[in-house]
Amino acid sequence: MNSSFLYHAWGLYSLECTREEYKGNTIILHVQSKKRLLLCPKCGKLHLVKNGYRIRDFVGLPIGGKKVLIRMKVQRYKCRNEGCDYDQQENIPFATGSRSYTHRFAKYVVDLLRGMTLQDVANHLSISWNTVKEIHSTHLLRHYCPPSLKGVKNIGIDEFAVRKGHIYKTIVVDLDSGRILYVGDGKGIDALKKFWKRVKRHKVKIEHIATDLSAAFIASVLENCPSAVHVFDHFHVVKLMNEHLDDIRRKVYAMEKDINKRKVLKGTRFLLLGNGADIFDKHYKTRLDNALAMNEPLSKAYYLKEQMREIWAQTNKEQASAVLYDWVRQARESKIPQLVKMANTLMLYRSGILAWYDCQISTGKVEGINNKIKVMKRNAYGFRDERYFMLRLYALHDCRITRNVG
Ligand SMILES: [Zn+2]
Repeated sequence: MNSSFLYHAWGLYSLECTREEYKGNTIILHVQSKKRLLLCPKCGKLHLVKNGYRIRDFVGLPIGGKKVLIRMKVQRYKCRNEGCDYDQQENIPFATGSRSYTHRFAKYVVDLLRGMTLQDVANHLSISWNTVKEIHSTHLLRHYCPPSLKGVKNIGIDEFAVRKGHIYKTIVVDLDSGRILYVGDGKGIDALKKFWKRVKRHKVKIEHIATDLSAAFIASVLENCPSAVHVFDHFHVVKLMNEHLDDIRRKVYAMEKDINKRKVLKGTRFLLLGNGADIFDKHYKTRLDNALAMNEPLSKAYYLKEQMREIWAQTNKEQASAVLYDWVRQARESKIPQLVKMANTLMLYRSGILAWYDCQISTGKVEGINNKIKVMKRNAYGFRDERYFMLRLYALHDCRITRNVG
């Protein structure tokens, strides 16, 4: 096989092929350097002599449906100039360090991963799953880590559970680009410490921050970024309201003795908690109306839940403020404990809730990312490797990387 074919097919230059071997599904190309080194790279004298060699195998790009192994005779040289201790093996330009594959091959693996799962790629190329993961990790580390904070203005902070809720991670997302900027271990104030350190070190001017109503996030933002506008977005406020509504539903159901009425109440959870405007099915609508007609507290809570969305549907902050106060009044008048509790929460956090009118950011993007993470966790059994998992998170915004999340 001639040298220019070696170059064009596998990116191997200055090499010659001494022999080709065909073994089962593998083609082995025996190669060696074309030139013998004479000049010592250390002292510059013509005193280099050969000092043994090693045979190394590298996986190269497949050809004709067969695996290609490049078996190289790697020459070792030593310098005979007195006082010079040069003694090294020759440079291998087509692979890195002790890696057992070529640069071209690594690039091919990364390209395949844009549309295939790790396991698919490993099967297709007859290499181990770990090698595919190693190649991908190296690529992600070089291109996405650590994420730059340059120009970041608006961020969203949220947490998610890994492994059935035993382990938590806190993520910070750039709300403009959708990039994950930071992944912290655990939840709460400590999980964000390293992020704030980076913000200070790089003098990042964060203007708006969206989070849920967690006390830890509020304290953390206040301490580290007091000049930023802190927005509590409607996703989380409505979610909290839904939790109260669900609590009311459960209690009503538990107290109901009439078996027929219990039947009506059963299975209304998704109707109650969903967005009322989304219920088009007549049958569902009747079921919901029947359940609501039976119980006054439930009905009151449901209508207040629906009304709550109006807080974010006004044309300006003043109107929204009026809607919020009206909501709080109705909730308190109802004397239903869960609604009174929700009213108190709204009052406590009202400035952050209404801050949405100053800057319409929300953690919606973060929620979207959380959903992507869920898909990623479901599809891949390899995410026990925390480092790889984190690297995948940093590349999550890049659809060229995340089209397939296996
Ligand atoms: Zn030398």
